[in-house]
Amino acid sequence: MATSSNGKYGSQQDLVNESKSFAFTTRIDDIIAWGRKNSLWPMPYGTACCGIELMSVMGPRYDLARFGAEVVRFSPRQADLLIVAGTITEKMAPIILRIYEQMLEPKYVLSMGACAISGGFYRAYHVLQGVDKVIPVDVYIPGWPPAPESVLDGVMTIQKMIADHHPRPWRNNWVAGEYR
Ligand code: SF4
Repeated sequence: MATSSNGKYGSQQDLVNESKSFAFTTRIDDIIAWGRKNSLWPMPYGTACCGIELMSVMGPRYDLARFGAEVVRFSPRQADLLIVAGTITEKMAPIILRIYEQMLEPKYVLSMGACAISGGFYRAYHVLQGVDKVIPVDVYIPGWPPAPESVLDGVMTIQKMIADHHPRPWRNNWVAGEYR
């Protein structure tokens, strides 16, 4: 930051003069990815106890805002990160598919906890045995429920995938579930 003679913040002209002394180069894809990874807008799909754990990630102790992902949205049209946290019943499957389809690309999915990943201990006819039966998942966060630190790690993994332009593993292999 340019400073004036009195040691305080400089004027606009100081900044302009300062900016002439250096150059910044990058690629357009990289700067878009940089902005994208630091401004994820999550939509929580919390159905059970994992949803409560997810709330603590948003709070001051774990402070998801440090990663630029605290702007929680409850409209899929305004979100690009779907966090599935909790048990997903068969009745919810077409609803979560609709929500996913309403999100704009590029969009990402975190599957949080044993229930969202595999149905958990609900090996039952009415529980979906993993949300990836109906929507593609980018990152799985294991745990029962996962600790907030694990959720942060999942968000950072998504950020790394975005920054690295990493092709999502499911892109060519994932097949839509029976609800499509
Ligand atoms: S994984 Fe455990 S904590 Fe999470 S929703 Fe299922 S039963 Fe609850």
